[in-house]
Amino acid sequence: MPATYTSPAADKALADHSILDHFYGHLPPQPRRTPMWELISTILSHRTTHADEELAYDRMLEAFGDWPGVLAAPTAELAHAIRTTRWPDTQAPRIQEVLRRIQATTGGDFTLDFLAEWPLEQAMAWLTDMPGIGLKTASLLLLFNYHKPVLPVDTHVHRVAQRVGFLGPKVSVEKAHGVLLALLPADAELLFNFHKHNYWHGQQICFFLRPNCPRCPLKGFCGYYLEHYGPATAEALAATPERWDAAAWGKLPH
Ligand code: SF4
Repeated sequence: MPATYTSPAADKALADHSILDHFYGHLPPQPRRTPMWELISTILSHRTTHADEELAYDRMLEAFGDWPGVLAAPTAELAHAIRTTRWPDTQAPRIQEVLRRIQATTGGDFTLDFLAEWPLEQAMAWLTDMPGIGLKTASLLLLFNYHKPVLPVDTHVHRVAQRVGFLGPKVSVEKAHGVLLALLPADAELLFNFHKHNYWHGQQICFFLRPNCPRCPLKGFCGYYLEHYGPATAEALAATPERWDAAAWGKLPH
């Protein structure tokens, strides 16, 4: 889709997208996991390591077999099964409430595929009304699994956008969902790549502490770089790698 330049911030956001798309490589939109798995895992993941979240998810399904089993389980037993998470006593009733709402919406099935047919606003409102489901999770699910044009923003995407300078310094992660979305074309494939690339960038190069600016292809127009090092010199730009080097720096996460 051709870029639409509507403001200096949109101009920067699209430049960021275009440079990181080249640096990390363009990806076809694809889900990380099935919609039900994505939704329930998110509830388990709050303040919990990925390994402990996965352990809780596996133990829950081992103990109760399937979604009807998880819903019918005594809540205290469900909490015990997911005990590797941070707040199992809060998360167990949440999971059962989410399953109840899904069942009530579908008339019995444990599927979220009706979201594909719903208008975006309706799908977003339904998801964010669930206990334990925020804008980031709802956006991830709708973008990754149903290719709706929304943008999940986590701390990595948020930090890169603020440092480069297309997101104001006082805009919260929650508010950034709408602000960044308004800067970008309503194109699910572009938004998927924008999310993945800026997420990787925050995780692998633009660290919270001591960002690895010498390795960064955004230095030529990054506000943080300008403030800390001055305008990027021809030498610094020439020394910047063109692409992510997986052999030297490691494989990118899923
Ligand atoms: S130049 Fe430095 S601060 Fe700016 S985006 Fe790159 S790593 Fe982050």
